[in-house]
Amino acid sequence: MKRKTSVFWILFSCSALCFVSLTGIFFRIQQTTPTLAEYSAEPVVIIDAGHGGMDGGAIGIDGQIEKEINLSIALKLDTMLQAYGFQTILTRNSDVSIHSADAKTVRQQKTSDLKNRLKLLEDTESGILISIHQNQYSKSSAHGTQVFYGRNCAQSKELAEMLQKTITGYLQPDNTREIKQATKDIYILYQATKPAVMVECGFLSNREEAARLTDEEYQDQIAFSICMALMNCLADRS
Ligand SMILES: [Zn+2]
Repeated sequence: MKRKTSVFWILFSCSALCFVSLTGIFFRIQQTTPTLAEYSAEPVVIIDAGHGGMDGGAIGIDGQIEKEINLSIALKLDTMLQAYGFQTILTRNSDVSIHSADAKTVRQQKTSDLKNRLKLLEDTESGILISIHQNQYSKSSAHGTQVFYGRNCAQSKELAEMLQKTITGYLQPDNTREIKQATKDIYILYQATKPAVMVECGFLSNREEAARLTDEEYQDQIAFSICMALMNCLADRS
């Protein structure tokens, strides 16, 4: 009986010790997850209008061109963020690819363009990248914004969650899409070591949404939602 009791106490003590250690680890992880507000007191927002130049991106169901919608939303976002006092950099402010001069073939130019966009983020102290794109899918019923985030920086997920919540809350109450971590197919987000997200604003393969995405007023609303989400994440910075 005595032996049984001591075995019980040994097992009980071990379990309790494990529980206390695991709880400690859990709370340490919780406490040390860095937030975007802690990232920098003076962040520089890099607004990336996807595609450009010879790369038009997706073509809409009624001929809409993705690169043009991306640029239009990016320019609107730039104006709004500057009005709120943020420092911004646009990866492009016109219909161009930003590949290096030594890139000759279309493939080389596309690779070089993506590398240069990534380099701009990595070389910018306190840079935060917001990439603007439009989606496309074989089923025309697919619709709604979806935000992707980089895998190397915890703040990317935080910003993606806030963006998804804000955009759907303001503009798309029926949108149940969830944020997704970028795979290697999304080069910039996959490689980025700083906060980086991509907003796929909507589907150009959906007739109704494609029409909305070319509407200036809707573009303003998308840009405003992005601006509000970012401000929300950065509100507590010191
Ligand atoms: Zn795109």
